[in-house]
Amino acid sequence: MADVAPSPEITAAFGVDAPVAAAAAADDVASAEHPDWDALASELAPLLHWQPRRDVPLAKHTTWHIGGPAALFVTLDSTAEVQAVLRLLTERGLPWTVLGRGSNILAADAGYDGVVLTLGPGLRGSRVDAQAHTITACGGCLLVRIVQQAQAARLAGLEFQAGIPGTVGAAVVGNVGTAQDWISGAVDSVILVRPDGSLTTVRAAQIDWGYRSSSLRGAGIIVEARFQLQPGDAATLAARIQGSLVRRRGTQPLTQPNAGSVFKNPPGVSVGRMIEELGMKGMRIGDAMVSDVHANFIVNAGNATAHDVVALIRQITERVSTQRGITLEPEIRFLGSFASY
Ligand SMILES: Cc1cc2nc3c(=O)[nH]c(=O)nc-3n(C[C@H](O)[C@H](O)[C@H](O)COP(=O)(O)OP(=O)(O)OC[C@H]3O[C@@H](n4cnc5c(N)ncnc54)[C@H](O)[C@@H]3O)c2cc1C
Repeated sequence: MADVAPSPEITAAFGVDAPVAAAAAADDVASAEHPDWDALASELAPLLHWQPRRDVPLAKHTTWHIGGPAALFVTLDSTAEVQAVLRLLTERGLPWTVLGRGSNILAADAGYDGVVLTLGPGLRGSRVDAQAHTITACGGCLLVRIVQQAQAARLAGLEFQAGIPGTVGAAVVGNVGTAQDWISGAVDSVILVRPDGSLTTVRAAQIDWGYRSSSLRGAGIIVEARFQLQPGDAATLAARIQGSLVRRRGTQPLTQPNAGSVFKNPPGVSVGRMIEELGMKGMRIGDAMVSDVHANFIVNAGNATAHDVVALIRQITERVSTQRGITLEPEIRFLGSFASY
């Protein structure tokens, strides 16, 4: 699988772990084959409900509104479609990635010379089992939907997700959360399509969960997740959800395109506060700007490019490294080749 990952150069600059660098290297090798994307689109079309599309601008599919074209953009509408397409792409050794809402992604200005897979309407649903206190959601389901469903069914455990603009699949693979709560605390099990097209159910206890990470990364596409929740009190649930939304409105630059926190917080350190203390709030390269609302957010103040964002990220990491001796690690994921950045 060609996962979303930085190039070895970016990896070295940011101090990301070796497996991520290996994924990036694999990406470059596969891209060098120059596949015939039109032929592949014609071959995939009969397998799919939605027609594959060529040269789709990733700027339209990322919340930063940055990124050049994806060579092939494929919407998958059922688990069977996910299985068939992954099997074919893996057999051919073609580069692919899966995209949710693109709210954690920096896509390269040159785009992605591979297949971008997204989950269509047939993989965006969810259902509540009030007796078992569970919600079962498809990989492409928006978090906002399950937060609302849980609230309506008076089930507790997902309130902290209110205001996170992503999908269930990405949230589970990246173990999204806040300083206090992570989604891993609510996951019961996950259904995954492996790169070879096979289907597997993974129990939460079988997954290694970390800070914004899980052992599911690179393992395939999450098509379903079941959440085990607890009975909750309506007023408490409403207050927690409202509290999360109000806190976000007060502390995050929600009126400007962004991708959430750019860097992971090292243990015991608030990166946002540290960047602010180092005088970088409002710092700008091109149209990429360190938010003046929250310094761990970089906003697109107009027509920012991925180059602008990477240049700003470099300046921040260098200043934090020299002045605080801390190596920052990106929380965002990189899509495409950043070898020349
Ligand atoms: C305003 C704002 C606030 C945010 N607040 C938070 C927060 O409080 N906490 C937090 O943790 N994050 C936060 N984020 C970041 C982001 O929303 C999360 O990382 C989210 O989970 C990304 O979901 P997505 O669907 O947009 O995934 P994408 O950005 O599209 O993809 C992210 C990663 O998930 C992978 N992926 C996507 N779908 C699947 C799937 N079905 N199966 C397997 N892998 C998949 C992708 O390949 C990629 O590696 C915030 C972002 C914004 C813009």
